[in-house]
Amino acid sequence: MHAILESAKKKTVIFDGAMGTMLMSAGLKAGESPELWNLEKPEIIAGIHRRYYDAGADVVHTNTFGGNPIKLSDKGLGEKAERINLEAAKLAREACPAGKFVAGDIGPTGKLMKPLGDLSPEEAEEAFFMQARALITGGVDFISIETMFSLEEALTALRAAKRLGEILVVAAVTYNKTKKGFFTMMGESVNRAASALEEAGADVIGSNCTLGSRDMIDLTAQIRAATRKPLLIQPNAGKPVTQKGVTTYQQSPAEFAEHGKLIRDAGADMIGGCCGTDQEFIRALAKAL
Ligand SMILES: [Zn+2]
Repeated sequence: MHAILESAKKKTVIFDGAMGTMLMSAGLKAGESPELWNLEKPEIIAGIHRRYYDAGADVVHTNTFGGNPIKLSDKGLGEKAERINLEAAKLAREACPAGKFVAGDIGPTGKLMKPLGDLSPEEAEEAFFMQARALITGGVDFISIETMFSLEEALTALRAAKRLGEILVVAAVTYNKTKKGFFTMMGESVNRAASALEEAGADVIGSNCTLGSRDMIDLTAQIRAATRKPLLIQPNAGKPVTQKGVTTYQQSPAEFAEHGKLIRDAGADMIGGCCGTDQEFIRALAKAL
């Protein structure tokens, strides 16, 4: 069994919080590529990883959320895709203390797949494969597919990562809360997404982003009812509020951590944070759990 699953049997595994939030406080400008900082400002990225480990995270994600070659091409960085992912993995690996873990982060392409958009499944799969291969070569412990608004795209990324062999893969989709329950942006239900991901070979099933920790309690119970696979849940720090062009999130670390306990009790095996969370949220969460 993979060491991360062994850990999850003994305790709730703590993941890191947001990368984007930390990068903006380190001076990342709107429109700038966060992933380019793996090459240009590696000491800042490594510092963020270390702060999360010091706060009690067992796992950090590489700074490669937008590291898909298709997405990087939009910023003119397609040629650098392989090197960006490789270096990001090495940076996190170097920051990782013994006994802790590095997750190779894979986010969406930012394009709609056919028939809604232009992206073919083959093209998407090759891009995900290239990213996953570079992350694994750079030394990550497993692949973490996250913030997928489309089940189809999550399944494509999962298929690509699994082509690399016996690699543990986490697959997390993002849900919106509606009057009729939780659905992805593409309208897929919790049951549909959980069973499709499990069938396609996801080792850990997850959800992250959009919802704050309060709504995630309910969502966790529903995903738990839909699958017996280990669950990773990463809520936002509540709802975003934009004032004078600056976005902040409503929750405090203390409230987030209290909800963390309820998310664990609802069936999550692994918990971290998404947008708006920083090392103080992870510190409070690790302490509470
Ligand atoms: Zn998020």
